[in-house]
Amino acid sequence: PAALVTLGEAMAVAAATEPGPLATGTPLRLGWAGAEATVAIGVSRLGHTAAWTGRVGDDAAGAMILAGLRAEGVDVSAARTDPAAPTGLMLRERRTADRLRVSYYRAGLAGSRLTPEDLDEERITGARVLHVTGITPALSATARAAVEHAVSFARAAGVTVSFDVNHRERLWSRAEAAEVLARLLPYADIVFAGPEEAALFVPDVPEDEPGRMARALTRLGPGQAVLKLGARGALVATADDALHVRPAVPVTAVDPVGAGDAFVSGYLAALLDGSPVEQRLRLAALSGAFAVSVPGDWEGLPRRAELGLLAAQDVTR
Ligand code: ATP
Repeated sequence: PAALVTLGEAMAVAAATEPGPLATGTPLRLGWAGAEATVAIGVSRLGHTAAWTGRVGDDAAGAMILAGLRAEGVDVSAARTDPAAPTGLMLRERRTADRLRVSYYRAGLAGSRLTPEDLDEERITGARVLHVTGITPALSATARAAVEHAVSFARAAGVTVSFDVNHRERLWSRAEAAEVLARLLPYADIVFAGPEEAALFVPDVPEDEPGRMARALTRLGPGQAVLKLGARGALVATADDALHVRPAVPVTAVDPVGAGDAFVSGYLAALLDGSPVEQRLRLAALSGAFAVSVPGDWEGLPRRAELGLLAAQDVTR
């Protein structure tokens, strides 16, 4: 069985290769993305086994996603090809040289059709970590039920539950997200959030006090609350009220998308290594730095042997 199991949505990405309005027919490059799949690939590249579950359509995009995950050593044997709906699509327009505009075609499509029946319970109980995000519960009632089922099942089996809040404002309102995602928190051993996301659960703590936010989150269930602070780095509060602060690794950022998922993959890979919290944060920051310095969500994720490329400029090492 895989050490890390995750479930979620993955979709094709058609990304403009040149600035300009898509409406005038700018050239595109075809790829794919998915938050949980990125975490699975990151963990796999860092030397641990990972499995991804989800639905893709019976089409070229679905085949590309499953082939891509397989090529990265991710177990997709529990993933489903859904004959009744196509794979979702994200269009990435570079409207100007430095302004991205993203549109999604995902509502009702294969990724959103995940159901609790798609889960392989033995795979979850056999894993060491289950990772879920707040994207999946926003996709549909059945996808929400699948996540709720997975976390309660994992929790009961003693599997470490990792939860990245990943609030997506285009999918639902803050009020709805806060209500649904707050129900997941008590099942999570580790929660990852940005300050705005943490505010969904601890609205009374000021967002410019991330240490207090993290500590407040640990009082809602998770023994580790990780605040992601972009180029400022990250910090972790633990249940014993300790706070661990970690600066980012200085790099030239060319594509911020996917940094959060890369960071999570590094953190969870170090957890699977059995490393203490400082080492988890270090591998997380290195993985985040690799991801932001390369275009694409998952392509730039590091392999173990490559970590030294950026560790050399990790001045706080
Ligand atoms: P996204 O949703 O865009 O994938 P996020 O908001 O979840 O990202 P961030 O806080 O932006 O997550 O980034 C996660 C981690 O990645 C940071 O804690 C940091 O370690 C690293 N990181 C992000 N941006 C940079 C940067 N510009 N330079 C170096 N490291 C970065």
